[in-house]
Amino acid sequence: MVEIPPFRNEVVKDFRDPADAAAMRSALDHVKGELGKHYPLVIDGRKFETERKIRSVNPADPDEVVGFTSAASKEQAGEAIEAAARAFRSWRQRTLPERAAYLFKAAELLRARRFEYDALLVYEVGKSWPEADGDVAEAIDFLEFYAREALRYAQTQPVVPIAGERNELVYIPLGVGAVIPPWNFAAAITIGMTAAAIVSGNTVVLKPSSDAAVIAAWFVDLLHEAGLPPGVVNFIPGSGSEIGDVIVTHPEIRFISFTGSKEVGLRINELAARPQPGQKWIKRVVAEMGGKDSIIVAADADLDAAVEGVALSAFGFQGQKCSACSRAIVDQGIYDEFVEKLGKRVASITVGDPRDPKNFMGPVVNEAALKSIARYIERGREEGRVIAGGKRSGDRGYFLEPTVIVDVDPKATIAQEEIFGPVLAVIKAKDFEDALAIANNTEFGLTGSLYTSDDAKIARARDDFFVGNLYFNRKSTGAMVGVHPFGGFNMSGTDSKAGGRDYLLLFMQAKTISRKV
Ligand code: NAP
Repeated sequence: MVEIPPFRNEVVKDFRDPADAAAMRSALDHVKGELGKHYPLVIDGRKFETERKIRSVNPADPDEVVGFTSAASKEQAGEAIEAAARAFRSWRQRTLPERAAYLFKAAELLRARRFEYDALLVYEVGKSWPEADGDVAEAIDFLEFYAREALRYAQTQPVVPIAGERNELVYIPLGVGAVIPPWNFAAAITIGMTAAAIVSGNTVVLKPSSDAAVIAAWFVDLLHEAGLPPGVVNFIPGSGSEIGDVIVTHPEIRFISFTGSKEVGLRINELAARPQPGQKWIKRVVAEMGGKDSIIVAADADLDAAVEGVALSAFGFQGQKCSACSRAIVDQGIYDEFVEKLGKRVASITVGDPRDPKNFMGPVVNEAALKSIARYIERGREEGRVIAGGKRSGDRGYFLEPTVIVDVDPKATIAQEEIFGPVLAVIKAKDFEDALAIANNTEFGLTGSLYTSDDAKIARARDDFFVGNLYFNRKSTGAMVGVHPFGGFNMSGTDSKAGGRDYLLLFMQAKTISRKV
């Protein structure tokens, strides 16, 4: 039997350590010299430059081009799917331990280049140093964790013995998958979804987010450097609205692994449900989508801890995490004190170019996001009282102030729709039961947190706070691979629990084999 080494999470860098800070500064300099390069499509291991390019820019300084990625046409997307189908014939025959070895190798290469990947995330999506490093550390964790999971599924699976037959159950792959990640965890989610699909024996077409195509190109190169055979991962950047439907509806596609917004996820789910001529299977859709995550602050909470947890959850990476707190639901008994303390805490948040580690918040990802969030803030002015932020910060780059809007009705637009930016709605609750009812009143169900010192409230929330990831007396962000398997309920998605023991099953099917003896 194959020995499974114990899994341990990567430790996130503490940039107060002068050696790590120096390594990060040097990586930022080095990666600056790499900016503006061209990245081709990769189909069947061969690289193709196309005339049409996706221009990836630094959101802190949009004149700075991070890279140009070739954009796949619909025909090229089809060719990539055909290449993946050809590669599947041999890749599926590799054993799970053989495939796991590629992930272990990729993890080793990524660990060696950790600071460069951190630096690229600072330039490409505007992450602060710790946020960038958390993203890359999580990517390494996914590679290590899913490799071990593959070894576990390679073991003999228990079936009930019966006289006269020898029975076994084995896990086999599905086929060709489309991997469609978002930009906000441009390392972790892209790498995690791809790794899970291929280690299970599938081949894929990877269509990265148009806002984070360069880091995906780096990763595809790294996989080939790790020795991955051609055609197992095919790289087809392109606008989702142009080539997304072609990929999703292609009859050779067996599954779609998507993380992104509710709107796109639901569209994919609907399109994938319709069988196409020549299609022999029901497509499987794994769709992890948006959130409208709440932190409840009960009257008996440690108020300082709650203020800190809410501020970090709402404004870390500019509120652009699916797990970000966008609603603080506060018991009326402590409401005024909470609001006052939160206002002061938020006033201390620094906003600016994330190359400078003194800035806690960087820019939002692009101009469309800036405008959409600004519209929500204007709406918020009608739906509550702005006590912090509310404006753009600086005139270059897509910076917004951390914004807190208080006295918001639980059914207001800014209390119901995912804003995906640094905007927090504060809602007053009559008591804990009222707070819990408010927390459950959206169509989402991703993360939630409760600050309380009362075990009875914890027990109540454990049963009835309807979210996929529930936390007590801590922030609602920062799920760790293996420790906090991640995924949400209702319109937050299919609850795939990325980084958990059930995840690889979504990329495999079980075959039962019986032999008369
Ligand atoms: P998005 O706009 O839905 O895009 C996600 C991916 O889908 C991108 O690669 C995008 O490509 C592609 N896409 C767009 N239209 C498509 C179509 N018609 N067919 C196929 N693919 C299409 O989301 P995002 O702005 O990148 O990410 C933010 C969202 O992700 C938020 O809602 C957030 O809550 C959610 N999220 C959820 C989780 C979770 O685990 N639940 C984790 C992270 C993020 P283009 O870039 O080319 O448009």
